[in-house]
Amino acid sequence: MLRLLWWPAAISPAVVAAALLLNPAILNEFVGDRSTEIAMAIATAMIGVWLTVAITLGYVRLRLRPLIKATERIAAGQEGVTVPVRGVGGHVRLARAINTLSGAMSSAREAATIDRLTGIPSRQALLANLFTEVDRARRYGRPLSVAFLDIDHFKSVNDTYGHAFGDIVLRGVAQAIQEAIRATDTFGRYGGEEFMLLMTETDVDEGAQLAEKLRLLVATQSFQVPRGPALSVTISIGIAGGPGSRIQVDSLIRDADAAMYTAKALGRNQTFVFAEPDEDARVPRSPISAAGRARAIEVGRAAREAAAAALTAVISPLPHYRGQPSALIASIVTTMAQQLDLPEMEVDRIRIAALLHDVGKVAVPVDILEKPSALTTAEWQSVVQHPRIGQVILDQATMLRDAAPIILHHHERFAGHGYPHGLSGSDIPLGARIVSIADAYDAMTHDRPYKAAISHTQAIRELRRHASTQFDPNLVTMFCDLFADHPPAPDPSVLAMNGDVHDPVARTRAVTRQRTPKSGADTAAG
Ligand code: GH3
Ligand code: MG
Ligand code: MG
Repeated sequence: MLRLLWWPAAISPAVVAAALLLNPAILNEFVGDRSTEIAMAIATAMIGVWLTVAITLGYVRLRLRPLIKATERIAAGQEGVTVPVRGVGGHVRLARAINTLSGAMSSAREAATIDRLTGIPSRQALLANLFTEVDRARRYGRPLSVAFLDIDHFKSVNDTYGHAFGDIVLRGVAQAIQEAIRATDTFGRYGGEEFMLLMTETDVDEGAQLAEKLRLLVATQSFQVPRGPALSVTISIGIAGGPGSRIQVDSLIRDADAAMYTAKALGRNQTFVFAEPDEDARVPRSPISAAGRARAIEVGRAAREAAAAALTAVISPLPHYRGQPSALIASIVTTMAQQLDLPEMEVDRIRIAALLHDVGKVAVPVDILEKPSALTTAEWQSVVQHPRIGQVILDQATMLRDAAPIILHHHERFAGHGYPHGLSGSDIPLGARIVSIADAYDAMTHDRPYKAAISHTQAIRELRRHASTQFDPNLVTMFCDLFADHPPAPDPSVLAMNGDVHDPVARTRAVTRQRTPKSGADTAAG
């Protein structure tokens, strides 16, 4: 409405002035014969007013327009908007206020989208991005994968070394992953010690390979505890995703989270993909069966009990124990831990610790331990070392756990497409690449129910044939050079451990292998 009135209002003074100039006689009736002078005066005044208004409006529009536009851009959410501070009075104040407002909006947005502790995107930013990417993937039918990454046993890092050190670890893990991801991925802190990785244009197989790289990367980071040891942490990863036609935000989050918890349940420090395995999947990723898992836990527990028994046997003869290593303590702590409703694993951990808490005393001379009278300062210094010595002893036992990634990946193939993660080249842990060659050689050179043994020379030829596809070519060359003149000899300490070389384990292994033969060397590498 105002716009409609604007034009007549702007034009009418000009029309009246023009009419008076062209025909001053129209004023005769009102002012008699002085009409020409009066008409001229009125017309000049009107032109003056009209020009003043036009120039003022033009100036205001010209100077105000950039400010209005900038304000509109800020309102639309654009970041880093600034206007030049020029002119005088109110104009300068307005420009300054707009710049201040724009800065405040940017800081507020950054505070909401960047996690302060780790410097990576916050949960809010992650979710906003997830909605946008799911929308895009659906619209264009593109694949998208989401991974949840959670630091393993992080609570014990906090409990043992303090929250401040926990923060350093959290920041270090976040930064290491942030630097390793692709430019198109988004990585952020989903909450606590849990992160989310959003992988655009990526199916779950590819996502699993990328996640494995990140998992191995995190395991290689070490954090120096002030006046203490260097510490490493591991992460468990769950992945979900698929083609754009099938994905939805809530199911992606739910499935990736469920996969992450499965990775935890299967022993942590691993990647688990949420997807039913299909026949054609390049990377087989079926979860292990319930029966297989139960048996694995049973064997693993037995191994742990055996290790604990071996260590308690060391402390049994100590004077304090008289052959009864902490049985009463073990029973008390178990009852108390159960009373506290602690998870089963935590109860077990406390029980084992109770059994072994004084194992470090093996390094304290017996006469000091048995001394009936007060200890000298030197003797006391020897006694107070026992908790630290205990820690060193148990650190040696964690070698078993450190072997887990090698075991997990010993069926990967150098060119990829092996299992369980389809890693390739140097992404496969070096130990796993070495074990796979030794395992294949051993299988080929021994009789199997389904296959007769081949000679050392033939086995070498077979390894060479599969170099670069199944095996690391450099390691194959090294193996062939090392054993060019003579076949490798069995390790005497293992022979002694076995008692019998042709043990039942080897037989079980041969049968397991028989069920899933693929190629010659595949069949051989059990
Ligand atoms: P799990 O392997 O099952 O993941 O064990 P966990 O101990 O890592 O998991 P849990 O969820 O029991 O504990 C997570 C811990 O993470 C508890 C909390 O103290 C710690 N945490 C969460 N946020 C922060 C943080 O900002 N800084 C530090 N230092 N610790 C944090
Ligand atoms: Mg955790
Ligand atoms: Mg957690």
